[in-house]
Amino acid sequence: MALGKSAAVVIGSFPLGESDRVVTFFSRQHGKVRGVARAARRIKSKFGGALELLTLGELIFFDTGRSDLVRVDHFDVLRPFDRVREDLERLGQAAWMAECVGRLTAERDPNVAVYGLLLRGLKSLEAGVPPQRVAVVFGVRLVDALGHRLRVDACVGCGRRDAFGGAPLTMDVEAGGLVCAACASAVPGLLRLQSGSVAALRRLRGQAWDEAVGTQLGGAEGELRQLLDRQVALLIGQPTRTSRFVREMERFSGERG
Ligand SMILES: [Zn+2]
Repeated sequence: MALGKSAAVVIGSFPLGESDRVVTFFSRQHGKVRGVARAARRIKSKFGGALELLTLGELIFFDTGRSDLVRVDHFDVLRPFDRVREDLERLGQAAWMAECVGRLTAERDPNVAVYGLLLRGLKSLEAGVPPQRVAVVFGVRLVDALGHRLRVDACVGCGRRDAFGGAPLTMDVEAGGLVCAACASAVPGLLRLQSGSVAALRRLRGQAWDEAVGTQLGGAEGELRQLLDRQVALLIGQPTRTSRFVREMERFSGERG
């Protein structure tokens, strides 16, 4: 039975049996790890509140080799990120980020870039950066880090580079990038983007994290978020559970404000 140890973030969980919990972590050393935390739902559990979504901790687990699930031995909190969980909008975007990481990565496939992104995202949310902006900056970098970068330099249909004269532009997520007007006319239902959104996408890819989350995105923010939702849905084969939650919450805060 092998012992594993790593800093890790809780990215999901569900109850198992009477008192256990299956927890999904994204760890620095091992990538995505799923494990059973025995008796985690008992009042006097040794885990206390440590296994809350988005908590960063030091994970110690046993790999029995008999199942995909490890046995969670210890999870000592390093940073609870409770200020992220206390605010609905922050929580919604953070839960979306966690779901994207959980569903776009394979188990036991370490990716330090993705781990670093998740932490930077949570830290920015906790620091009070507008939540949707954090999610967009995070999402753009996440799809890049996982090798799914959309092309914006030439039409992915015909290869022409000088085909994007006037705005708006058309993105064919399934084909992997922008398409010219001629190629776009053959495919119904493609996403239209203002040229400013494509410029913002280019800029975000090149900027340092702090610079990226420190810059207002204006109208590009909503369009890029829509683009990311569409791309992630295509990659996982269905919309994320959390994107719907986030949209409903935005409608609610719009009515309230
Ligand atoms: Zn074309």
